[in-house]
Amino acid sequence: MKNTLHVEVLLKTETSANIANLEVAVLLELRNIKPIIPETIHNTFSSAELTHFVKQIQVCEIENALDDENQSFFNETENQILDLDTYTIKVYFFKLDDSGLADDATSEDNTCKMRRCILPNVDFCGIWDSLIFQEPVKEILMHYALTGMNFARHNVDTNIISYNRLILLHGPPGTGKTSICKALAQKLSIRLSKHYKFFEFIEINSHNLLSKYFSESGTLVMSMFQKIREVLEYGDSLVFILIDEVESLTRARESVLSGTEPSDSIRVVNAVLTQLDNLRKYSNVIFLTTSNVTEAIDTAFTDRADIKMLINPPQELAIYTIFKAAIDELIRVELIVNVNESDKFDRLPVGKEFTNSATQQLFEISKESVGLSGRVLKKLTFIAHSIYIRAPQCNGIDEFLSALLKAVRYQKRQDDSINKVK
Ligand code: ADP
Repeated sequence: MKNTLHVEVLLKTETSANIANLEVAVLLELRNIKPIIPETIHNTFSSAELTHFVKQIQVCEIENALDDENQSFFNETENQILDLDTYTIKVYFFKLDDSGLADDATSEDNTCKMRRCILPNVDFCGIWDSLIFQEPVKEILMHYALTGMNFARHNVDTNIISYNRLILLHGPPGTGKTSICKALAQKLSIRLSKHYKFFEFIEINSHNLLSKYFSESGTLVMSMFQKIREVLEYGDSLVFILIDEVESLTRARESVLSGTEPSDSIRVVNAVLTQLDNLRKYSNVIFLTTSNVTEAIDTAFTDRADIKMLINPPQELAIYTIFKAAIDELIRVELIVNVNESDKFDRLPVGKEFTNSATQQLFEISKESVGLSGRVLKKLTFIAHSIYIRAPQCNGIDEFLSALLKAVRYQKRQDDSINKVK
């Protein structure tokens, strides 16, 4: 059996193309791209038809026919130059909705209960590729969700085979849990476009829910879920519901039981859980839930989740990739100048000798950065520039790497002093 190469084609919003013809043109174009490498984006084409209709072609991941269960995200296949004849090529066409994730406009009162948007959405563009995990987190989640939806489309009896289409991601704050939920929803809306007419993303923050609806004893929660039901019943849709920080619900319940909080809040919590259970009968919904604390997650969620995944802060290889992407961007926009060809970072510093000192230095800095969250790591090149470069442009890679190392140490000192105060 051949391996599969997935290719995503972003169409220009203003055009309406004949997809069958366009697919032929895309397959021809792929043969003109030399060399063809996974995880690359192309936006200039030799075909006039593609130039007219298409914004970008992204050659995505390779899916191995016989997947090794221990396969890491950091495998060497991504460095391969592909021979297209040896792959089954799957092409997905999509357009981006540009209205963005916004407060629910249908809400009559001023209190905002949820945020929603149509998928694929411009706000979620690029998140999937920007998230780097050492373990194959993204791949596992995507295959899990695709399987869940496949079972649902085949009406598999959930009394015989249990699956709830509920994913629970837990781990320290800033490790990319919310981002991966958004990215997964976007990815699936592209990959499942042949099966559903439209896709919607709804975000509910448990923490906000409790603080706003405390005194209202659950009635507003009911009306919010009524709206979600209307979306689920409206035509051939697939709806993603993200419930962030579910630990707030558990905490509220515990506080009520221990008498430190008014009992109104338990009505809100119970209303949320009952409503969620009611929604589970719909086969066109996927619940994505996150928690910043592992211990305090309500069994209401842990019992229902099909996948509970711990998301850890990035380790050195993931950190290297995050830093490399940031520095490459600064070079691209010429905020770092005078970069020699010989200073180009290796894609990954593994499996061979370092090809240059820049790669080696960046890998050393990455090792020293272990323990910092993804959120912090993404800011560090900015901190390095603002505190340790202090000039419009940085002169050469060595100067930038030395600023980056200082920024890492600065950040670790900051984190230590915050932890001491705590
Ligand atoms: P969480 O929900 O776990 O608190 P978020 O999804 O809000 O984390 O992530 C905060 C920021 O940190 C986002 O901009 C995200 O892109 C970035 N980030 C976190 N983890 C990673 C990672 N593993 N790779 C790349 N970026 C990350």
